[in-house]
Order: sequence, then C-alpha cells, then structure tokens
Amino acid sequence: MFNERIYNFSAGPSMLPLPVLEQAAAEMTNYRGSGMSVMEMSHRSKAYLSIFEETKADFKRLLAVPDTHEILFMQGGATLQFAAVPMNLIGTTGKADYANSGNFANLAAKEAKKYGEVRIAASSEDKNHTYIPAQSALKISPDAAYFHYCANNTIEGTEWKYIPATGGVPLACDMSSNIMSKPVDVSKYGVIYAGVQKNMAPAGMAVVILDKKLAGKELAYTPKLMSYQVLLDSDSMHNTPPCYTIYMLGLVLKWLDRQGGLAGMEKIKAERAKILYDYLDGSPLFKGCASPEARSDMNVTFRTGNEELDAKFAKEAAAAGFENLKGHRNVGGMRASIYNAMPTEGVVKLVEFMKNFELKNK
Ligand SMILES: *Cc1c(COP(=O)(O)O)cnc(C)c1O
Repeated sequence: MFNERIYNFSAGPSMLPLPVLEQAAAEMTNYRGSGMSVMEMSHRSKAYLSIFEETKADFKRLLAVPDTHEILFMQGGATLQFAAVPMNLIGTTGKADYANSGNFANLAAKEAKKYGEVRIAASSEDKNHTYIPAQSALKISPDAAYFHYCANNTIEGTEWKYIPATGGVPLACDMSSNIMSKPVDVSKYGVIYAGVQKNMAPAGMAVVILDKKLAGKELAYTPKLMSYQVLLDSDSMHNTPPCYTIYMLGLVLKWLDRQGGLAGMEKIKAERAKILYDYLDGSPLFKGCASPEARSDMNVTFRTGNEELDAKFAKEAAAAGFENLKGHRNVGGMRASIYNAMPTEGVVKLVEFMKNFELKNK
C-alpha cells in the first residue's frame, strides 16, 4: 500500500501529469458550471463541442500540423490502425513496404498482409532489434502504396533518429510511444498514428494525422468507422467519439504548453533519458540492451545478465515505489518507460535506488 503517488514506469497505460489528474478530479462532477460531468455530456452539445474543437486546435498547433493534413480521433488504439492503414492506402498499387524494427512494427506488417502484398524493406531481426536500420539499408520500391515504420520501438527500447527518405512513396508511421516528445516535420508524412495511452491521455483512442489527399481510396469492404474519408467528412464524429479521452487529451496538451511545448519537452526528455543512460554506461551491474546510437529516450531497456537478479531487482524496486520495471515478456530484463509525464526526479531517484541495489548485489 502506498499513501503517496509512486513512480510508475509502465509502458502503457502510463503516468499522466499530476496537475492534469487534479484538474480532471476538480471538474469531475460538475464541469465548469454545466451541472454534469464531461462523461455525461452529449457529444453534440455546445459544452462538449468546445472541448473537442479546442483539443483539436491545440493538437494541431503543438505538433505544427500543416493545412494539408487533418487529425482524426479513432477508436481501437494503434492496433486497429495496423489494419486501417492498409485498408485505406494499399489499394492504389496493392503493395506496401514495411521496416521490421521490432515487435509492433512486425505486428503491423503481419496485419497488412491480409489486405495486399507486403514486402519487408529492412529488418533488425538479425540482432534482436537492438538497432535501427540505416537509410542505406531501406529497400523501398517506387510501386509501394506506402512505406511503414514504427518511430519508437516500445518493447526493445530503440528509436529512429531520422525520418526515412522514400523517393516520393507516402510515409506511414506508428508514433504511439514517442509522439509529442519532440517537434516533428509532419509535412514529410502521409499518415502518422498513435495510441494515446503512452504519452498523451488515458487509453481508448488513436490519433491519426493524415495527409488529406490520401483519403478516399479505401478498399471496398473497409468498415465505415475505419475509413479515413468517413472520419474526415464527419470530423471524427461519425458515431460517438471517446469523449472523455479527448477531454483528457485536451488537458494534457495544455500541460504540454506549460512545459514549453514540444521544444521544451524535447529538452526535458533528452536530459531525463541521459541521466539513466549515463548511469547504465558506468554501472558494473546493469547493462543497456539497445545499441547506443539507437537508444530510445522513452523506453530504456537494461539487464544484469542474470535472470534471477533481474526478477529480484524488479520486485524490490516495486516495493520501494518504482513500479512496472519488468521488461516485456518477449525480451525479459528490465524496461523503464519514461514518457512525458514522468518527472525527471523519478529517474534521479530510480538511479539512486539502482546504485544501492548494485552495492548490495555485487
Ligand atoms: C502500445 C503500442 C501499440 C499498441 O497500442 P494499442 O493502442 O494497445 O493498440 C502499437 N504500437 C506501438 C509502437 C506501441 O507502443
């Protein structure tokens, strides 16, 4: 039992900023004099539409989304986008190229195979996805309807440090675990999508940032709710949207503004990750798993080399208030997910805890 909030290193759903939770709590039963909770409002009501519009506008401003692109709120998380992307985009040529840089990237490619010909343009499987394929290794064909990659590999702890050049092939990207952690040149992308529960909001939604000219070419059997064109035409309100999740996203975006927007966040997240990586690089006990040039600033993977000791560490850390440090079941070891809402102090204290553990387990 904890009487205070702990440092939750979960890969998702993950920490939300405390001021956001406090504001949501204060507004929970009577939202700004409306006499009801946001959860109870009609999604067509004036009060709700103003939340919706403001959230969308803040999102576009923070990520500097150009006028060529629109944002869509879609249910089904990032996983449904593994199908939505091919259903909406693959029809133009019937073929798509995928980079396999980790578990989620691979899942996306597998799902896409149901809807067309999928070619693996590059893979890091030969080294257990501990690195990111170089631009020169990407085999992208001009007849690909799109090229898909996963910007941050949540499970393996690697992150693409460059935006792939595709020679004009539309770029599709899963940014679930690093969206809103730094500025991004959205104009380079055909479609970006992200499940919101890592860096932006409680679970229940994906945000899709779409180059509008790519809409309207979906496969004939695409469900209406998965059609980018239908969502565009209805402003993401073809049916009841995940109203409360969108409201929470709005509060998180206001909080992001107070951190200095995405430029501010980029600085914070780089410093926060460096504290942990610097420690790992000097530690005689813990070793980082990812190749140094590919390291993620969002998911830090590490291990001792001894599975029993890893398990002991995760257990003792949890008891001390550092929760969810056990690595993903596919890869073992440990993983500290340090998304936007993780205070830098949480990482400083984790490193202190690790130093003590190291001394006791030499
Ligand atoms: C978590 C995650 C997913 C899966 O997200 P859901 O919203 O649970 O479907 C997909 N891709 C990446 C990169 C993730 O981190």
